[in-house]
Amino acid sequence: MKKQLMLINGKWAESSNDEWLEVVNPATEEVFAKVPVATPEDVKKAVCAAQDAFFPWAKLSPAQRADYLYRAGEIILQKSAEIARTLTTEQGKPLKEAEGEVKGSAKVMRYFAEEVQRIYGDIIPATEAKIKSFVIHQPVGVVAAITPWNYPVQLLAWKVGAALSAGCTVVAKPSSETPLSPLEFLGCFIDAKIPAGVVNGLVGPGKVVGDALIKHPAVRKVAFTGSTEAGKKVMSACSGNFKKVSLELGGQCPLIVFSDCDFERAIKGAVRRSFRNMGQVCNAVNRIYVEEKIYGKFIEKFAQETGKLVIDNGLKNPSADLGPMVSQDALDKVIEHIDDALKKGARIVCGGEKLEGEKFKKGFFYKPTIVVDVNHSMLIMQEETFGPAVGVMSFKDLAEAIKLANDTQYGLAAYLYTNNVHIIHKVCEELECGSVGVNNVDVATINVPYGGWKESGVGQELGRQGLEEYMQIKHIKLEFF
Ligand code: NAD
Repeated sequence: MKKQLMLINGKWAESSNDEWLEVVNPATEEVFAKVPVATPEDVKKAVCAAQDAFFPWAKLSPAQRADYLYRAGEIILQKSAEIARTLTTEQGKPLKEAEGEVKGSAKVMRYFAEEVQRIYGDIIPATEAKIKSFVIHQPVGVVAAITPWNYPVQLLAWKVGAALSAGCTVVAKPSSETPLSPLEFLGCFIDAKIPAGVVNGLVGPGKVVGDALIKHPAVRKVAFTGSTEAGKKVMSACSGNFKKVSLELGGQCPLIVFSDCDFERAIKGAVRRSFRNMGQVCNAVNRIYVEEKIYGKFIEKFAQETGKLVIDNGLKNPSADLGPMVSQDALDKVIEHIDDALKKGARIVCGGEKLEGEKFKKGFFYKPTIVVDVNHSMLIMQEETFGPAVGVMSFKDLAEAIKLANDTQYGLAAYLYTNNVHIIHKVCEELECGSVGVNNVDVATINVPYGGWKESGVGQELGRQGLEEYMQIKHIKLEFF
């Protein structure tokens, strides 16, 4: 059985009470690895190491820190096949997708290495000639980086890249479902000879280890990605000593399709963003609104194209479109949303069942599912499904489409297919969310801020704005005489 240790103060470490957590392959339901569970003592050690490492790391110039990030990025690329294999084994996405995730994380290191060298301060004109006001950006301090299982390496890379380049040190706590690939990713920084304590990685339940980490007084910033429910607890835990906090939370993202759109493009976008990674994506499309006059045609083609997706064990079939879901719990929620919609009068035009055959006897596999004739009393149109099921309904006019799209507590992303510039302008202005994809469904972009409105989060990741989340502002008022 594979054994992966935690990372504390530059060394691989077992838990101080010898407790272990088992990691399951979701394609086979077999336990294939174990990792230590951090104790309160381990949390303390990791945070103290990060605190000791902070001042020397923060004192390096941005260019000097960038050199470490470039080096780590190169090592991530060299090890991408190995890390991707681990990622697929613990998370389920096909190998090709996992490799894309890991290689993309190397690009994130390069981006922040460059961007941090463009964080300029300000010199602000004063009321008197002998006074100058300088505004500078300084690193916040020790960062707790807490991440989910759906993109275990990528979402950690967004935080670690920004934090390290800004001059912060990090204690990471990945999800217990997928702790291995994030720890292997962090190991690349050790291989890049980053000073001990700058990067640390702990494992354990969020409510215990995550909570202890957040509440440690030396942690000055919490960068959290996860569910809205957990995000609320994290925010309240941060209030104890007013830690800076960014929360990237759940979504319930709408796709609006107008009849004048490029139809093939809209179908392609709908299939990709509803089902990629088995719908286990924060900005996945959960609900689709189609203009009345193309509703029937849209459903027919959407079901036809969805039926072509290849589902398989992603280690055995690296370029399959989809693998299993991450766990039985995640799958149960999907089935609950589908059953609820059917009970309330919806119908299924694609999927709605487990896959048949010997190779799907084990594993959390499920067919991508399209539920039509839905309405907003149904869970699938209100709550985050976070799985391969999407609801589709029609709308009459632009006002109705916008109203339906905004009828949610979430505000992460929305998508729109139309060629009418007036519709684009109106809808983009009125949607209540952090990102809008017009005629495309890929809004998360390295050099552009990404964040949620409403209950989808607080703060930004990526882009210059994402980097500034790891810095604080200082005003230096200088009087000459
Ligand atoms: P989760 O909230 O259960 O867990 C996320 C992480 O937080 C895990 O590491 C977990 O151990 C930890 N955690 C949980 N409760 C905690 C607490 N009270 N204190 C400290 N840490 C705690 O989420 P999940 O099931 O792992 O991931 C799926 C969720 O993540 C979905 O809701 C999805 O939308 C969201 N997500 C959001 C984004 C985004 O960028 N907005 C990206 C990916 C995933």
